[in-house]
Amino acid sequence: MKVTNLMEQIVEDVMEEHWKNLKIECTCQLCKNDILAVTLNALSPRYVAHDKGRVIVKARMMDEQMQADVLREIARAANIVSAKPSHE
Ligand SMILES: [Zn+2]
Repeated sequence: MKVTNLMEQIVEDVMEEHWKNLKIECTCQLCKNDILAVTLNALSPRYVAHDKGRVIVKARMMDEQMQADVLREIARAANIVSAKPSHE
C-alpha cells in the first residue's frame, strides 16, 4: 500500500456519523467535499505507511478527546462553507 493520510478516512467517518446534527445550508456533494477539505486543512495529517500504523492511529482515534477535536473542526468547516458555498 502507498502512504496515506488516515485523517481523510477518520474525518469522513466522523462526518458521516454526525451529518444530521450539523447545521449545513446545503448538503450537496460539492459542499460536502468542501467541508471535508476545510476540515482536513485545519487538522494535522496522520500519515501511515503500512497496515500496522493504520491500526495504531485508528486505535488512537477512538480517544474521545480526539473525536471531539475532529468534530469541532467539522462544525467550524460547516459554518464556513454554509456561509459561503462555492456554487450558486
Ligand atoms: Zn452545495
